[in-house]
Amino acid sequence: MTPPAALAFRAVRHAYGRTPALDGVSLDLAPGEIVALLGPSGCGKTTLLRLAAGLERPTAGEVAAAGRLLAGPGTFVEPEDRGIGLMFQDYALFPHLDVAANVAFGLTKQPRAIAAAIVADLLSRVGLAGRERAYPHMLSGGEQQRVALARAMAPRPAVLLMDEPFSNLDQRLRRGMRRETIGLLRATGAAALMVTHDPDDAMAVADRIALMRAGRIVQIGTPEEVWHRPVDRWAAAFFADLEELPATVRAGRADTPLGPFAAPDLADGPALVCLRRDAFDLAAADPEFAATVLAVRFLGEHRTVRLAVDGLDRPIDTHVDARVPVAVGARLAVGLDRAQAFVFAQP
Ligand code: ATP
Repeated sequence: MTPPAALAFRAVRHAYGRTPALDGVSLDLAPGEIVALLGPSGCGKTTLLRLAAGLERPTAGEVAAAGRLLAGPGTFVEPEDRGIGLMFQDYALFPHLDVAANVAFGLTKQPRAIAAAIVADLLSRVGLAGRERAYPHMLSGGEQQRVALARAMAPRPAVLLMDEPFSNLDQRLRRGMRRETIGLLRATGAAALMVTHDPDDAMAVADRIALMRAGRIVQIGTPEEVWHRPVDRWAAAFFADLEELPATVRAGRADTPLGPFAAPDLADGPALVCLRRDAFDLAAADPEFAATVLAVRFLGEHRTVRLAVDGLDRPIDTHVDARVPVAVGARLAVGLDRAQAFVFAQP
């Protein structure tokens, strides 16, 4: 028998007064699974997290954890009785408590020696052994984030909720914190639900990504699935910039100024072919069209290149490995990975 979901939302709705925030969300987290709630500002991500934490009551639907109903008609389990850990964006550390006391905060029911051992273990796991007596104001943002993570994990929650956990960190710290967070979650077997508006955070950390828009989950899948098989143009564009070509579908084929693309599932009519920047190959062995380089920008690992394509009335942006020399004004023969195209019907 499959174990019950570590956390489950069933047809959850929520409104703040007359403002709808969630419009029928269902989602299951398997034990130990890391799920990212990804979406633009105001789509309802934080509201879903607050419902799981018990900081809000759903207007309709149910929230359950490990087979236990937490919120639903006639039922509401208080936040402190849910066994769910919470980590906020602003860390919310207690300024008057030192690092060890912050981490020990949720361990009051444990004998002192055991609590001390748990604190020591967690602090060494997050790289803060030796900083037990420091106060939050003496720590960097990254260190405060580590304390917040250790504090949330100290009571050994089966589920950890994280609200934009990496958004206040610079790129280098962010990469380190992502790794440490995954490591700690895997080591303890806790499931996690992470709110983020950053596709990179979601891709780097999550087993599955739930893409949210206007109070609904529009797609859920592994990072590969949501990247390679977006459900619509909006979902595709949320992850990376797209070049869009107007097209006409006839008999399962979308014809564009750059040639045909397979569209076996679409009815005849107007469509849009969407291409990610890496669908274009500026060093192709078998080029498909000619273009002139309008602009180049060096960005370290790659260059972005703006091309005027013969037969297209507006430029396209692509990128190329920085080791490939590209100069403004050059004529290029460009290859196209047609398998990377998404073809969507035009509403
Ligand atoms: P962000 O990434 O900006 O935090 P979000 O996706 O987390 O956004 P929510 O905070 O869940 O979105 O908000 C969803 C909707 O509910 C928005 O329209 C928001 O304005 C509204 N809302 C959120 N909290 C409240 C509140 N306390 N009172 C009234 N409306 C609220």
